[in-house]
Amino acid sequence: MSEPGSGSESAAQPASARRPRPRDPDCIFCRIVAGELPSDRVHEDDAMIAIRDIAPRSPTHILLVPREHIPSAADLTAADGPLLGALFQTAAMLAAREGIAERGYRVVTNIGQWGGQSVDHLHFHLMGGRAFTWPPG
Ligand code: AMP
Repeated sequence: MSEPGSGSESAAQPASARRPRPRDPDCIFCRIVAGELPSDRVHEDDAMIAIRDIAPRSPTHILLVPREHIPSAADLTAADGPLLGALFQTAAMLAAREGIAERGYRVVTNIGQWGGQSVDHLHFHLMGGRAFTWPPG
């Protein structure tokens, strides 16, 4: 069987067959998840934490971070479907709590250098409180 995250698993592989990815001791978000580095947590559950971005680019700027070390969205497989559903459900819950749901907001993940990714641990930016342009710069 191929390694999780190799992108070569069958889409039909059940979630129960997937092994958890190992933690990366040098990953800043792994260290925040573990409580080794400080953060402003606004939510946490078994699957994820949500923290305020340290350099916010909008009035609300929250990062939804899976507890598991997944380098980027390019490493997701069909077995991660429940995790993704939970991340987007939590984003919607936090958007409502932040008072940004009614006017709309943006959920975005960056992948790789040209995608603008600076932390190689999957996270979704929940951004709102102002209007955004399209396409992004
Ligand atoms: P990206 O560039 O898409 O990988 O997003 C990484 C985000 O993490 C950036 O918006 C950073 O401002 C944010 N960030 C980096 N270090 C921390 C930290 N210690 N606590 C909270 N946010 C952070």
